Amino acid sequence: MRVLVVEDEPRIAGDIAAALDAAGFLPETVGDGEAAWFKGDTEDYALIVLDLGLPKMDGLAVLKRWRATGRQVPVLVLTARGAWAERVEGIDAGADDYLPKPFRMEELVARVRALVRRSAGIGTAAIEVGPVLVDPRQMRVSVNGVAQQLSPLEYRLVAYLALHKGRVIPVHELIEQLYGDDDARDANALEALIMRLRRKLGTGLIETRRGFGYLMQEPEA
Ligand code: CA
Repeated sequence: MRVLVVEDEPRIAGDIAAALDAAGFLPETVGDGEAAWFKGDTEDYALIVLDLGLPKMDGLAVLKRWRATGRQVPVLVLTARGAWAERVEGIDAGADDYLPKPFRMEELVARVRALVRRSAGIGTAAIEVGPVLVDPRQMRVSVNGVAQQLSPLEYRLVAYLALHKGRVIPVHELIEQLYGDDDARDANALEALIMRLRRKLGTGLIETRRGFGYLMQEPEA
């Protein structure tokens, strides 16, 4: 899943990106408000981490512009410690959660995971689809209680499909969320990956809808 990290302090941006990458996300970083606004307006992200103190355009203004143009992406704002007025303003401007600096990366990653699943309408930390259980906290996938060995790419794919279970996900959306913006986009590679997943997780879970995309749902009894 693609996550945009907007942070002008390179060291913090790098640490956040590394933590998100280790948690199975695909982070991209930008360091100023104008670039952030443009990226958030033109690309699709599962979530945006937004620092409020930014050069060129401050984070609140960026957030207000996204919301004014109807961008619904979940946004986690990073605020200065003790700046309660800033937090109130951020939430009023359309932030979904906030985290005061300095923070532990574990907490940031946990909040990102929670926001991503809440925005998909899922209330539990682990996602169940028939016999399959996906646990984003440990990046583990099990079938009937038996842990499966998945590659990082296979994990990302099944996590995204499970998060959006019951919905047909267009091929271009899956490719974008799997490989990011810069990688080669290849529908055949995706099909091969889906076939490997079916072998590991069992058939009947992931359906191909020719010309539309892929759908993960509980197999019919
Ligand atoms: Ca800053």
